[in-house]
Amino acid sequence: MRRIGRFVFLGLVLFFAAAGTSWGAELGPLPKSDEAHLDAPKAIPFDLPALKRNWRERIAAIKAQGTLPVIDIESSFNGNKLPLRQFAQAMDKAGIALIAFSHDAGNPKWADIAARVVSADPWRFIPTTNGGVHPAWTEAPKEFLAETFKHAVPDGYPLLGEFEFRHYPSPRQIQRREFFRDVTVPINGPLGQELFAFAEKTGLPFEIHYEIEDALLPPLEEMLGRYPKAKVIWCHLAQIRYSARSSIYGPAYLRGLLAKYPNLYIDVAFGDNFSKYPGSDEYHARVWNAGSVKKEWVDLIVEQPWRFLAAFDLGGDRQDQLPEYNRNLRKFLNQIPEPAREIVAYKAAWKLLFGEELP
Ligand SMILES: [Zn+2]
Repeated sequence: MRRIGRFVFLGLVLFFAAAGTSWGAELGPLPKSDEAHLDAPKAIPFDLPALKRNWRERIAAIKAQGTLPVIDIESSFNGNKLPLRQFAQAMDKAGIALIAFSHDAGNPKWADIAARVVSADPWRFIPTTNGGVHPAWTEAPKEFLAETFKHAVPDGYPLLGEFEFRHYPSPRQIQRREFFRDVTVPINGPLGQELFAFAEKTGLPFEIHYEIEDALLPPLEEMLGRYPKAKVIWCHLAQIRYSARSSIYGPAYLRGLLAKYPNLYIDVAFGDNFSKYPGSDEYHARVWNAGSVKKEWVDLIVEQPWRFLAAFDLGGDRQDQLPEYNRNLRKFLNQIPEPAREIVAYKAAWKLLFGEELP
């Protein structure tokens, strides 16, 4: 009896010690107000070790609540339209650990607003350089790149924003008859060369928006082959706007691409199964078969989970839709078996950005 009693006692001690680590974990204080970022000091250069301590603790706290934490690798914001405190509350409620947040509104060559967001809330946002979008990227791309390069390393950004090399107008822009976002920047042209070379030299990952079409695949492969150390996140897994222009891409093609180019990553920001692209009137999120993820995609993700990254693609004009984007992303993640699900949800992003594996 005494022996058993001692084991029970030891077991209880261990239980409380383990539980204590999660009880101690925090989601992090909420930012003071919805406008807290507007007059916050710039947090540059970023104190990444301190930020990472907060972020790890937040991830642990979400896990301790029994929720799968998510790191969203691709969302953007407009500082003037971001209700920071409410947004942080919505993240807490949804179990979103971190958002790689990039500024893309108004679009001067450079803006430090992501650094102010991080200073107002050092628990929830991974600072990301400004997105390569219209008009800065389309009208003065060389200056835009030069400013991005000037800040990225000295300020300590762990990630460069999404560069639009081939981008069709978004569904909402088509509905508004806005076609300025029909962007073509040759990925193997001078701007692409500069960006890939910079990424290779610095080790900083960057994101591309690049529609999936037969004619666009060879130039992308040319660049991946020429800059094998550049870490490229190709956003929007299997989002095809016009099926007639895409006969090559599919799970088999992507499996080959991932095998050939070890620094290629894919994010899973795509619409739900009933979302139609108004330009073509087609269901553009091709991973779905009705409400299920097609088996071939699940198989590929299970084989290579470290190469797939959770993402929302929330834009500055739809920040209030986080709950809906969260539901959609989790509908997808829930169909990926463990341990791949946990890797795609947050572990792969952490490893890509910081070169470490989370427990
Ligand atoms: Zn995109």
